[in-house]
Amino acid sequence: MIDFTEIRKLVDIRQAAAMYGLEVNRAGMACCIFHADRNPSMKMYDDHFHCYACGAHGDVTDLTAQLFSISKTEAAEKLCADFNISSTRSPPATPARKRELTNREKALLMLDILTDYICMLRYFRKHYAPFSFETELSPQFVESLQNLDYAEYLWDAWFDSTDDERAAFFTENIGQFRRFYASLSKYGFNKK
Ligand SMILES: [Zn+2]
Repeated sequence: MIDFTEIRKLVDIRQAAAMYGLEVNRAGMACCIFHADRNPSMKMYDDHFHCYACGAHGDVTDLTAQLFSISKTEAAEKLCADFNISSTRSPPATPARKRELTNREKALLMLDILTDYICMLRYFRKHYAPFSFETELSPQFVESLQNLDYAEYLWDAWFDSTDDERAAFFTENIGQFRRFYASLSKYGFNKK
């Protein structure tokens, strides 16, 4: 039997939202995924979400199920896999704390995101280039103009840094990496 309470304790709902490409603003608000929402109406609390427009309400497993159109059980299995929760069947005797990524893991995550993001922007630069001066620029092409050089610069810098430096940079600029990740998800360019 899956222990949804245990998953709720172990997985931070905002972290899961960010990892799965749902953009959450500084106020903890996101565009609701249960109704067509143009302005963020869904508030992320510590262990649940609530939409002030449509009333959708639930925990991290409900959120994941809706995001990927899968059942609650499948969502729980996905969360366990993605957040390294080994077993939900027998909770550890001492309550597990939310696990911090090691510096090595942060560094590798940063490289993963950058690599995918650069690939996507290079693709946009090539395939979304305007046909003529009169053509309106696509958002994809604009994003490649805005971020490609910078992302490539970060990619180069990554290789000249230690894991501690990479992890520190990643943590300080986590908002930016979440935006890169959200963009990858939005356009379907993330590997996961
Ligand atoms: Zn809603």
